[in-house]
Amino acid sequence: MRIRLLVAAAGGLSMAALAAFFATEVLHAEEAPAALAHDQPAPTPVSSVVGEPTPDQTAEDPTPTKPDDAPSDAEPDESEDESDEVWVGPPDVIPDCEAKLAEAGIEYKPSRIPLHKTKSGITCGAAQVVRYTKGPGGISWGNPQVTCGVALGMAKLEGIIQEEAERHLGRRVKRIKHMGTYSCREMANYPGWVSEHSYANAIDIKYFALTNGKEIPVLGKYPRDGAEPKDAAGRFLRAVARRTYDEHAFSVVLTPSFDRIHRNHFHLDMARYLVDGT
Ligand SMILES: [Zn+2]
Repeated sequence: MRIRLLVAAAGGLSMAALAAFFATEVLHAEEAPAALAHDQPAPTPVSSVVGEPTPDQTAEDPTPTKPDDAPSDAEPDESEDESDEVWVGPPDVIPDCEAKLAEAGIEYKPSRIPLHKTKSGITCGAAQVVRYTKGPGGISWGNPQVTCGVALGMAKLEGIIQEEAERHLGRRVKRIKHMGTYSCREMANYPGWVSEHSYANAIDIKYFALTNGKEIPVLGKYPRDGAEPKDAAGRFLRAVARRTYDEHAFSVVLTPSFDRIHRNHFHLDMARYLVDGT
């Protein structure tokens, strides 16, 4: 089983919070304790990670920082205190998003989910949202509403999916059934924490439909807890999940190996931290 949490900058009080928040899930993983230590260098920087490293002492703060303590407008530049790194918040604007979408072979329609704060104090929405209509792998996703970053991740993922589908299943994937992208809410398993779904910065994949109509569901087919895949479908799903994380298509990849909430889907998001839950 591979379950790792990596935060690609030293220190920052929100990092301590994230460590506490994922601790129950990652402490039993072999690599997790080292990866969680605040003095470890970041082994896997990703483009979505922002901000300069901050002094270590703030990482000692044992008090988890709830999202409602974070600046609601999520503009890191406006933060007066550098230790107030915003790890959980609406994604940063991606420069030249439209050019990058075009370069990645993505067809899309403009869309918007304005940034807003709910009564319970959660910030939802994002600055750059599109309806993803078609990607470079020719997969139909049902036109989900996603951030620019997720759209770019989906395009990369399409390439991985088609390579692994041809390798393990001898066919290509025609359609993906997803379980949602935008949902203004706290994390299902961690009340008080805001899900990347609140920013349309995540997508949940339920199954892959091949060109012959056969469906490969995550539920029951994903080899859990490091078990050897039992069949070609399991090998396909395992390879897709691991490559998605390893090749930085998404910064967070959660599978049935991560917890029971994810027993029937892959959760993929573009958070500023990294979680390998494959
Ligand atoms: Zn999800």
